[in-house]
Amino acid sequence: MVRVRIAPSPTGIPHIGNTRTALFNYLFAKHNQGKFILRIEDTDQKRIVPGAKEAIVEILTWLGLFPDEQYTQSERLSLYKEHAELLIKKAIAYKKDGAVWVRVNTGAAIAWDDAIGNKKIQFNSNDIEDFVVLKSDGFPTYHLASVVDDHLTEISHVIRGQEWISSTPKHLFLYESFGWKPPIFAHLPVILGPDKAKLSKRHGAKSVLDYRDEGYLKEALLNFMVILGWSPGGDKEIMSMDEMAQLFDLKNVNTANPIFDIGKLQWLNGVYIRQLGIDELSEKIKNKNEKLKRINEKIFKKLVELAQSRMKTLNEFDELVAPIVEEPKVVLSQNEKELARKLNVGFSSIVHWESNAIFTTIKKVMQEAQVRMPVMYRIMTGKESGLPLPQVLEIIGKEKVLERLQKLL
Ligand code: GLU
Repeated sequence: MVRVRIAPSPTGIPHIGNTRTALFNYLFAKHNQGKFILRIEDTDQKRIVPGAKEAIVEILTWLGLFPDEQYTQSERLSLYKEHAELLIKKAIAYKKDGAVWVRVNTGAAIAWDDAIGNKKIQFNSNDIEDFVVLKSDGFPTYHLASVVDDHLTEISHVIRGQEWISSTPKHLFLYESFGWKPPIFAHLPVILGPDKAKLSKRHGAKSVLDYRDEGYLKEALLNFMVILGWSPGGDKEIMSMDEMAQLFDLKNVNTANPIFDIGKLQWLNGVYIRQLGIDELSEKIKNKNEKLKRINEKIFKKLVELAQSRMKTLNEFDELVAPIVEEPKVVLSQNEKELARKLNVGFSSIVHWESNAIFTTIKKVMQEAQVRMPVMYRIMTGKESGLPLPQVLEIIGKEKVLERLQKLL
């Protein structure tokens, strides 16, 4: 039975890196009809950040990565104490300055076959210094708590970031000392920024909740994270969660470090936005911005239809429709005023106000004055580009458009 876990420490809000680890674990569990377990590693009490535990749960819930079981280490302190005492009894651990320490004394190399890239990783046990397993405050260290919990909750595969590789020999030593069979280890290559440096805030490595708040869809974020270092083969890139679970395999995880590319995430988000039905997209946009709920329903849907193909995030809707729903503030030059006058005459004579007729008028004015669309765009909206102008003006309505032109003149 496959049983995997994620073991976040509530010392910060999860970012793309640890959330991708969660996704890989989840997919591996689903692919193998196994269990996905959440374990809160809150044993380093001084480093706990208020709200971090809640954010971890909020992110997993938003993304649909629901755990089958949940554990919290601070509620299991007696277990770790018992096991530390067992190590003392076996003369593997000793007490010093109040804390319990372990001495690695195998005299041999410590090695394992890592599931990523199927390669042997080996450490010389002489290089491993004595380490603390139980602190004087009665809390275990990561090493002891992680091994005890992974064993007691019957974890079959430990899938975690490469940054934990140097801890693994210590863990293997503890497994051996307790006489337990270790799980299979899979250390995921860490995500790097475009400059090949460790991914940081300056690369856009924000909290996952920030991406949600900026208008990224969970489907896009999940898809983005899964292709950071994994591919089902071929050039398949767009996948639903079900497809990912069906195809996911540790064998196909790349051994090279994946590079974080925000442009890719934006592109994927656009792809998923275009896949939504108009009603569904309207709903999502409105839920993000209360003030849009005041716009007339029919007009709102037209705006969504128009904006859908041009949005990379839900939040961009606001900016795209601002020239329509708000009176633009533009000061025109003499030349522009002349053009505005011509538009005014042309528009006034349109009987049936719709985008084709509006476009014909705009085209005529442009041709006569030898100017291009951005000039027309600026006159009518104050911006140089955006949603297609004829459609925009159709939605604004003839009366309002003429009113705007009067004001400009
Ligand atoms: N608490 C560790 C973390 O914050 C867990 C590492 C592991 O998965 O063993 O990522």
